Amino acid sequence: MLDDLLSAASRNANGRHDDAVTAGATMRALSSGEERGMELPDWVPEGIDVTVPNAARMYDYALGGFHNFAVDRENVERVEQMMPGARRVAHANRAFLGRAVRWLVKAGITQFLDIGSGIPTLGNVHEIALRAAPEARVMYVDIDPVAVAHSRAMLAEYPRVEVVEADIRRPADILNHPDVTELLDFAEPVAVLLVAVLHFLPDADDPGGILAQLRDATVRGSYIVLSHGTPVPELDEEIDSLHKVYKRTPTPLHLRTAEQVADLLDGLELVEPGIVPISDWHPDPDEVDAEPRPEMLAAVAHKP
Ligand code: SAM
Repeated sequence: MLDDLLSAASRNANGRHDDAVTAGATMRALSSGEERGMELPDWVPEGIDVTVPNAARMYDYALGGFHNFAVDRENVERVEQMMPGARRVAHANRAFLGRAVRWLVKAGITQFLDIGSGIPTLGNVHEIALRAAPEARVMYVDIDPVAVAHSRAMLAEYPRVEVVEADIRRPADILNHPDVTELLDFAEPVAVLLVAVLHFLPDADDPGGILAQLRDATVRGSYIVLSHGTPVPELDEEIDSLHKVYKRTPTPLHLRTAEQVADLLDGLELVEPGIVPISDWHPDPDEVDAEPRPEMLAAVAHKP
């Protein structure tokens, strides 16, 4: 069973082995024995409890990456059993992220602040942005030390791409972080990417207030990009089970309706086509992962 899971993890969305995933700096598959025996691979930062499932590593596994542990893989497989095709949402989300970055570069944006950036995998923001605009600057931010350590290892060769470990719940810490202020010029437009991260914040964390702080820190012509899990009435039972799985992680899910997502973007102008299912945001007819996904909403908003 585990062999099947690992083999599935080494294939990408199309069922192919993907060199971009397998050739990553320290990427390698693990067996649960390795994790539960005390010998951990050297890429695991101090203090990580590999027996607690984690959203960053579950997402990494769903995308076909290798920086995850047995408990993460088991959770993704459990979700997949409850909601067949669920891991395709991760692929559709990643595809949206790529389309949004390409769109932003065409709109003249060359500075990106990607908060909740995740473990580097296929289609990273800096790769897409630099391909389209070699002068682009990208600041990655994540709360997960595994995501930050891997980003750091991968980015050593890029002078204008950096990563910091920080919590979106304290936006001032991000905006005033010396590495952030050194890399990004907030007197010029910036795209703040909040892709598949805000649904980890309960209302009690005031996501609207967080967005307002990020919006106010940027100049006119800046953008906020987000994707967000949303309730789907036909999938009530499945989504109930999904909540149970994520309650075992440090970041339970807080799905929001399109109206609630619109409230988060107060003071900004939505770019066409507005708040839509991720696969409907400027779809690319050539994209392999173009199947409709109602479980996640996407939006790009502009600071007028
Ligand atoms: N944005 C990437 C993407 O869409 O491909 C990764 C999304 S992944 C599902 C969510 C990421 O948000 C994880 O890497 C997780 O560690 C991070 N995250 C969760 N809560 C966070 C917080 N409070 N502050 C910063 N990052 C957070």
